[in-house]
Amino acid sequence: LPTPSEFIFPFEPYSIQVDFMKALYQAIEHKQIGVFESPTGTGKSLSLICGSLSWLRDHEAREDKRCKELSSKQTGFKNNVDKKNKNGDRQSAMEQIKRQEKRKLQLKKIRSSIANYSLNKQNESKSNSYRKKVKIYFKSGSHHIFFQIFFCSRTHSQLSQFVKELQKSPFGKQTDPDGFQVTMVGLGSRSNLCINDEVRKLKSMNERCLEMQKNSKPEASSEDGNHLTNTIVDSILDIEEVVKKGRSLEACPYYASRHAVPLTQLVVLPYQTLLHKATREASGIKLKSVVIIDEAHNLVEALNSMHSCLVTAKQISKAHGQLTRYAHKFNTRLKAKNLFYVKQILYVLQNLLHATKSMNFVPFTVIPTKGGASISKENKPKLNSRLLTVNDFLFSSKLDNINFFKLLRYCERSKISRKLSGFVERFEQNALSTANTNSTPPTKSEYDVTMASPLMHIESLFAAFSSANQDGRVVMTTDSESGPTIKYLLLNPASHFKQILDQSRAIIVAGGTMQPSSCLLDQLLPESDAEKHRSRIAEFSCGHVINGATQLLPIALSSGPSGEEFEFTFQKRRSLKLVDEIGRVLVNISNIIPGGIVCFFPSYDYEKYVVQRWNEAGITAKLEMKKKIFREPKKANEVDKLLVDYTRCASNKGPGKQNGMLCGLLLSVVGGKMSEGINFSDELGRCVVMVGLPYPNSQSPELREKMNYLDRNMRHTDGRSAGQLHYENLCMKAVNQSIGRAIRHRNDYASIVLLDKRYLRPSITSKLPTWISDHLTNHERFG
Ligand code: SF4
Repeated sequence: LPTPSEFIFPFEPYSIQVDFMKALYQAIEHKQIGVFESPTGTGKSLSLICGSLSWLRDHEAREDKRCKELSSKQTGFKNNVDKKNKNGDRQSAMEQIKRQEKRKLQLKKIRSSIANYSLNKQNESKSNSYRKKVKIYFKSGSHHIFFQIFFCSRTHSQLSQFVKELQKSPFGKQTDPDGFQVTMVGLGSRSNLCINDEVRKLKSMNERCLEMQKNSKPEASSEDGNHLTNTIVDSILDIEEVVKKGRSLEACPYYASRHAVPLTQLVVLPYQTLLHKATREASGIKLKSVVIIDEAHNLVEALNSMHSCLVTAKQISKAHGQLTRYAHKFNTRLKAKNLFYVKQILYVLQNLLHATKSMNFVPFTVIPTKGGASISKENKPKLNSRLLTVNDFLFSSKLDNINFFKLLRYCERSKISRKLSGFVERFEQNALSTANTNSTPPTKSEYDVTMASPLMHIESLFAAFSSANQDGRVVMTTDSESGPTIKYLLLNPASHFKQILDQSRAIIVAGGTMQPSSCLLDQLLPESDAEKHRSRIAEFSCGHVINGATQLLPIALSSGPSGEEFEFTFQKRRSLKLVDEIGRVLVNISNIIPGGIVCFFPSYDYEKYVVQRWNEAGITAKLEMKKKIFREPKKANEVDKLLVDYTRCASNKGPGKQNGMLCGLLLSVVGGKMSEGINFSDELGRCVVMVGLPYPNSQSPELREKMNYLDRNMRHTDGRSAGQLHYENLCMKAVNQSIGRAIRHRNDYASIVLLDKRYLRPSITSKLPTWISDHLTNHERFG
C-alpha cells in the first residue's frame, strides 16, 4: 500500500503527527517492529488511532479488491502450470469474500437485533421468536471474522483515555453503513466489569463467579446478555459505559465483552490480557494481527513481573491441608490416574514446605557498583534471602524427578484448583455451621478464607519450574511479616514475548520516552531469532509540540548558591551541607517562580530525612514564606486529597496566596504513589526539580541477578556491560518519567532543574529525551 500523504484526523494535524502516522502506516504495512516515541502532550493516542485505522481501512479495501479479482478469474487457470497454487489462492479468496459478506451480514443482524430488542421490550409477547433469533446469531458469531488490531496499555484509566480519544476521532462516528466502520471492544478484569455487588465484595471473585455458573447459565447467554454484546459491537463504549449498560440490562458486562471479541476489529485490553499466554488464550485472543503496546517504557518490567510469582509457606501449607482432605474424601471415587497426580501434587507441596522450613540463609555480600552504590543505612538488605537456579532448587528440594510439564497439564485439564476451591467451600461451610449452634451464616471474611484457592496461585510456580533453567531464578526469602516465601524471578522476558513476535503481523511499541530503545529491544528479542527480528525494526522519534527554545528551560546545576557541589551518591547525600544546599536552591526558585513547583526525591526515606533537617535548620520556615509545602503520602488512598489541595493552591483557587505569588511546593518521590498517571500541567508544575539520580537499590538480590544475567547474555556497548547499562537505564527511565510530566500541551511551559553534576556526563545526557537534552544548559551555581 502506498503511504498516504494525508490522514483523516479530528482537526488539522501538526506536522509531527502527520510524520508519526506515516511512519506507523509504513511499519504496519511492511510487517515491522516499530518503536515509536512521542512525548506526552503531542497527541500520541490520536496519531496511533488515525494512523493504524487508516491502514486497516486501506488493507480491507485492498483485500476486497484482490479477492474479487481472483474469484473472477475462475476459468483462466485451467491450462496454467501453477494451476494448483492459483486455485488455492482463488479458494482462499473465495473464502475471504464469504467472510467479508458474513461480516456485513453480522453487522446487519446486530443492528436488526438491537431494533428488535427495543420492539420486543415494548411487546413481551414476541419474546419467544426473538430469543430464537438471538441464539442463532451467537452460534454463527463464535469465530473470528475480522483482521484485528490489539491496542494494549498498562492501566485501566489509560485504556479509558484511549477509548475517549477514539470516540472523538472520525473513526468513532459510525454514520456510514456501507463504508468503513470500526467495531471495538474493551476488555477488563472481573473486578472492573462485574455488576454483582455481592461477588464484587469478595477477594475470590473469580472463583465465586465460576462457582455460580455451575448452578445457572452465565448471564451473558441470556437475551439481555446478547443485546449487551450487540450494543458493544455496534457502538464505541469504554468500560464504564459498558458497566452502566450492563447494570440497566441486568446482563454481565464481563462475558458480554468477551463474546464481542470475535466480532470486532479493534480490541482494547490491558497488558496482562495480551502478554500472558494463558490469559490471552482464555480471552479468545488470536494473534495473527497488529499489536500496539502503549506506555511501553515499562514493557520489560511488566513482562517480568507478570511471569514472576511468589508463594508463601502459609499458602503452601493451606493448599497441602485442603488437598489432603480432598484426596481422603474422594479416595475411592478418583480414577487411578487422577489419584496419581493428586498424590504427586501433595508430594511437591510437602517438599516445598520442607524447603521453606529448612532454609539456611546466607545474606548477600555487598558489591559496590560504578553507579556509586555501596552499603548504607538505606540500601542494606532487610531480608534474609537465598537465590538459586531452578535446577539447583529442584535438586535440593528433591523435586528434580518431577515432570512439571505433565503436572501442569493435569492441573489445567482437570481444573483441580477450582474443584478444590468448591470442595473447601462446602467443607468449611459445613464445619462452620456445625460449630455454630445458632446456625449463623459465615461472615464475609470467613467466606473469603474458605473460597481462596492457594493451589491456583501455586500452579504459577509449577509453570515457572517447567521453564528453561537460564530464564529465571528461585529466590527464597524470609521476614517477620510474611514468613518464608519462594519466589520465581523471570530474567528473560524474551521467552514470553516470542509468540507475540512470531505470530503478529506487526508490533508497535509506543511511549512518551522510549530512550534508550536498544535496551528494550535487546531484552525483548529472543537470542535465537535476534538477527531476523532486528531486520524488522523501525524507529520513530518525534520532537515536542512546544517550542523548546521559548517554552522549556532545562538546567543541570552542578553546585548550589553557597558553592556546595551537588553529587547525591549514597555516601554523600546525607551530608547536612548538601541537604541545606537543596533547601537554599528551592528558596531561591520559590522567589522567582510564581506557579507550582514539584521537587522529586529519590526515596521516601531521603525525603523524610531532608524535611527533618530543614525543620531543624529553619529552611522550612523560609520556604513557607513563599510556598505552601505539600508532601507526597505513602498511602495510596491519601493521594487524591493531596492532589486536590495542591491543585487548588497551585492554581490559586484556594487559600495560600501570599505576596501576590501563587503557592504550592510539592515534595514528591520518584517511583512513589504519584509516579504515574498524574500530570503537572500549567500552574501545577512551572518548575520541576530533580534531586540527584534515583538509582535503584543495587544490593537487591533480584537486581544483582538481573544484571549478572544481562552481563552473561548481552553484548557490551561502548565498553560498558549490559548489566551496568540496565542499572543506569532504570534510573534514567525514572528521571524521564518524572520530569516529562511538566509539559502536557502546546501552550504549556516549564523549567526543569536537575540537581547533580553527574547530569552533565554524556552517558547520562544522552538518555534524556532529545526535546530536553537539546536545550539543556549547565550552570556552575545558582542564586
Ligand atoms: S457472571 Fe458477570 S456479573 Fe455475574 S458474578 Fe460473574 S462477572 Fe459478576
